[in-house]
Amino acid sequence: MPSTSNRAGVPEQLGFAGMPERLFVCTPSKLGAFLDCPRRYRYSYVDRPTPPKGPPWAHNSLGASVHTALKNWFALPPERRVPAALPTLLKSTWVREGYRDVELERAAYRKALDWLETYVATLDPQEEPLGVERVVAAKTAVLALNGRADRIDARVGPRGPEAVIVDYKTGRSGLDADDARGSQALALYAYAAQRVFRRPCHRVELHHLPTGTVATHEHTDESLARQVRRAEDTARDIMTAEKAVAGGADPDEAFPANPGSLCGWCDFRKVCPAVAGVAAKEPWTAVEHLGDSR
Ligand code: SF4
Repeated sequence: MPSTSNRAGVPEQLGFAGMPERLFVCTPSKLGAFLDCPRRYRYSYVDRPTPPKGPPWAHNSLGASVHTALKNWFALPPERRVPAALPTLLKSTWVREGYRDVELERAAYRKALDWLETYVATLDPQEEPLGVERVVAAKTAVLALNGRADRIDARVGPRGPEAVIVDYKTGRSGLDADDARGSQALALYAYAAQRVFRRPCHRVELHHLPTGTVATHEHTDESLARQVRRAEDTARDIMTAEKAVAGGADPDEAFPANPGSLCGWCDFRKVCPAVAGVAAKEPWTAVEHLGDSR
């Protein structure tokens, strides 16, 4: 039998001599969860049943609503991609969870509609992206990577046709080129998109809808390779921790907590004994300011 399960239900390859190590199946957000806090990673991806989570977050609802509206915008035929279509698109998939009250939810809806109207005015309705909410996947020596990119554009760069990774952001603070450069998720999408679409993909963009700004970075083959190596290192750390737990190690030691400001936003703060002494955020804290600008 080549495989068994550890106590957390994670499939474990026994690794006969000469047999390739199993690839670590992951998304960028899975890797990011481990980098933020290994304990939170364990609660999310290892412990089964999953420990109870806190209530849904309004900022996630808002982000999901805007993302889905933009996805459905591109599903319309080009002649129907007009601003008048936006209220229906936004309303039909609006996610209501996490808001303090209906008043705040309405303010968030109006703001989201404003953002969308401003944003689509910058788009050419005739342009078809290579992919919208498109899953891209690639394998390396260590990773079986997959992830859903918000949008992948077909553009003509200085060296000819290329794919461009576009990520929508709806958070409060603006973003700059350092955010685009440092984003492991964007780099991994670019790495995978090159393979899926068989065309160069070095440019990554963060489209921040609340400010209408675009933060960009042009990767090189080397900088993409560097991000892939970092992702592989993280995957090795995760696999080592999983193997340790399978071998009887204390899960709390194998997946140490990293308490800090993120604890305030952590879904598992109610079950985590290491939670830092930061105040818990209300589910609507990150969107509360939207109610001030009526
Ligand atoms: S509460 Fe803090 S330390 Fe505990 S899992 Fe969440 S982020 Fe990690």
